[in-house]
Amino acid sequence: MNKYEVLKKYFGYETLREGQDELTESILNGQDVLGIMPTGAGKSLCYQIPALMLPGITIVVSPLISLMSDQVKALNQAGIHAAYINSSLSENQVQKALYNAKNGQYKIVYVAPERLETDRFLDFACTSTISMVTVDEAHCVSQWGQDFRPSYVRITNFIERLPRRPVVSAFTATATQRVKEDILCILKLTAPKVLITGFDRKNLFFKVEPVKGGTARLTMLLDYVKNHPCESGIIYCATRKNVETVWENLNREGIRAGKYHAGLTQEERRKFQNDFIYDETPVIVATNAFGMGIDKSNVRYVLHANMPQSLENYYQEAGRAGRDGEYAECILYYSPQDIMINRTLIENKGNNDQLTYEELKLLHENDEMRLNKITYYCRTHECLRHYILHYFGEPKSGRCENCGNCQANYTLLDVTAICQNIIQAIREQNQRYGRTVVLNTIQGRNLSKLKQLGLDQLQSYGICRDVENALLSASIDELELEEYIIPTKDKYAILKLSSTCGEILSGQKQIQIKQISGRDKKEETTSHLKRSDLLTGRGLDLFEHLRTVRLNLAREAAVAPYMICSDKTLTDMCIKLPFTKKELLQVSGIGENKYERFGEAFIAAIYEFTNGRKEIVHYQEAQSEPIKSKRTGKQEFHITDELEKQLLYEGTPTISEFVAKLNHLRDEKTTKALKTTVFTTMLRERGYIETEIVEDVRYSYVTPKGELLGISEDIRFSDRIGKYIILHYNENAQRFLVEWLKECGNLIDKQSFNV
Ligand code: ADP
Repeated sequence: MNKYEVLKKYFGYETLREGQDELTESILNGQDVLGIMPTGAGKSLCYQIPALMLPGITIVVSPLISLMSDQVKALNQAGIHAAYINSSLSENQVQKALYNAKNGQYKIVYVAPERLETDRFLDFACTSTISMVTVDEAHCVSQWGQDFRPSYVRITNFIERLPRRPVVSAFTATATQRVKEDILCILKLTAPKVLITGFDRKNLFFKVEPVKGGTARLTMLLDYVKNHPCESGIIYCATRKNVETVWENLNREGIRAGKYHAGLTQEERRKFQNDFIYDETPVIVATNAFGMGIDKSNVRYVLHANMPQSLENYYQEAGRAGRDGEYAECILYYSPQDIMINRTLIENKGNNDQLTYEELKLLHENDEMRLNKITYYCRTHECLRHYILHYFGEPKSGRCENCGNCQANYTLLDVTAICQNIIQAIREQNQRYGRTVVLNTIQGRNLSKLKQLGLDQLQSYGICRDVENALLSASIDELELEEYIIPTKDKYAILKLSSTCGEILSGQKQIQIKQISGRDKKEETTSHLKRSDLLTGRGLDLFEHLRTVRLNLAREAAVAPYMICSDKTLTDMCIKLPFTKKELLQVSGIGENKYERFGEAFIAAIYEFTNGRKEIVHYQEAQSEPIKSKRTGKQEFHITDELEKQLLYEGTPTISEFVAKLNHLRDEKTTKALKTTVFTTMLRERGYIETEIVEDVRYSYVTPKGELLGISEDIRFSDRIGKYIILHYNENAQRFLVEWLKECGNLIDKQSFNV
């Protein structure tokens, strides 16, 4: 088999992505490689394809136990023989796994770095054919990286002890120049092929939401989750306490959520994590202890309730969204308090006793520098994506037009005079105080502390009495961002002036800040279409249905749903509507092995859902020509009197059929399609219908209130999925929906209830 045949047979893909072709080719030619590619780029395939083609075994060194077992499970689902050896196995199990490996049962063996140093493993490796050693998360070899693992440094000792040097391949998602040099040098890669693909994750939408105070933060988080029901999402918090608070509030709101932090027992952590991975709970609230071992591909959003400690951490954590390449959102909720929380966390970081005092000092300085950079990310009004890419050494000019900042509307405000006053005040105070004292002074607050310090006698006292607090704060932020003010690194940071401040005092340099005037009013211009833009209302219903089918298959196979197939594969099924083996094999992500195991179940479900008529889902041409609503600036769906006159209230359609009818009336060129979820969410919220999940199958019921309105149930049976219910809407119910729609007028808010 050539590599494309392997790609199709085992992984179900037709083409290799950027970088994959070159890296697999180099490995197959016996050349060492270093692949630096962002999360979700497809690094695993770069070594898995050659591993299947090379004669012997590939050893994959991986830092986390959970990552290993997930990778192995996913490979097994694809029909690939693989195993892992780590401390979660008993001695007997290790012995058995090594015995099997030696007898050629596995093509790929995952191990923790510490394992390489054991006699038993060395013995196995020296007496077997090891074709390749792959180092996953290779940045762990570097002290400059954020996840330094001393045992990674000793991987080379292991390789050098093998009778024949195998090909060495190393992969990481985050590597600055220094980390890259460390990887090359410490792993002793020989004449390697180094491939760095772009860091950009085009399917991720980045946004920073400034928050004022803990309550506001909580409300914003809850609102977001409520507006994205059923979607899988992670909420990262800085501390265990914050995790608990957010988790409790989600539960209080009736949202099923898990939690994860170091204060829970191992058993609790395992349960919450599994529930999340297996799609039992859509949301998980966690500290940064969560996620490194998670490969879940259908995470649709990652929210950071607090600013993380570095952009490396942020990009890695946020990068857990949208690994399947579908649209996903990464939102960071920032308040200046987060800086102090992080500084404390950095100070209390466990010291590594293998390091010297100088090395530790250096690590701390690096932590401080990283904290500053992420702080600037939160404060900048420039393009967020380009800020990140610039940080990772991939400068881009212009704007991406696909992040929160590029989409916000701004006005420019000249704050030079305010900044002059701030600088004057800091000078007069001999650069001895922090932000709060400076602000209180220029605002002329009547505080005993200011009087005790004699600050009420200064010329700058009350000089900005009429300026709003928020504007003053934003001006100080800007001065810090442009490094005219440099806060000390103490716990209570003191504001120091840089030598360049004269430029501002003399008026030589103007300071302007951008003020958001109507964030999000601008149309979103996502370069990646959301699922709801790719599928019709009926298509989205089918997607939900296939999700349930996938969940059931996953339960039977005792694996996570994303290991059966990704959301992207399900979306592709809803577009292609395969009825035959040949057609299903055209769906991205379905290879021979996947077909053999799960193909029939999906085909049957699709056939049943459509009654064998593809046009039921394809009633719009939207599939081949996706509605580029966000880009083309179409208006939201709304009912005009003229439109209503054309509407015939007849029969008892399902909600999707009724919405389809409404959508037929609109002008597709100027108006966005209406989504069924707009109605179903409202009906659920107002108690006309209820949804319940029984044994992982979602049932919608009509309530007595709904019956009165004119909604009725039609119970159907299918051999494969058992009982399912379809709701029908009579004329009265249809009229009610239209009235409600008219009342809503502009549906901007309602449309965000995407399922
Ligand atoms: P990484 O390790 O770089 O974070 P993964 O190897 O987990 O990324 O791949 C991310 C997703 O992309 C997986 O769902 C994988 O199946 C998919 N993928 C990888 N290569 C391809 C390809 N050539 N075509 C389509 N999908 C791919």
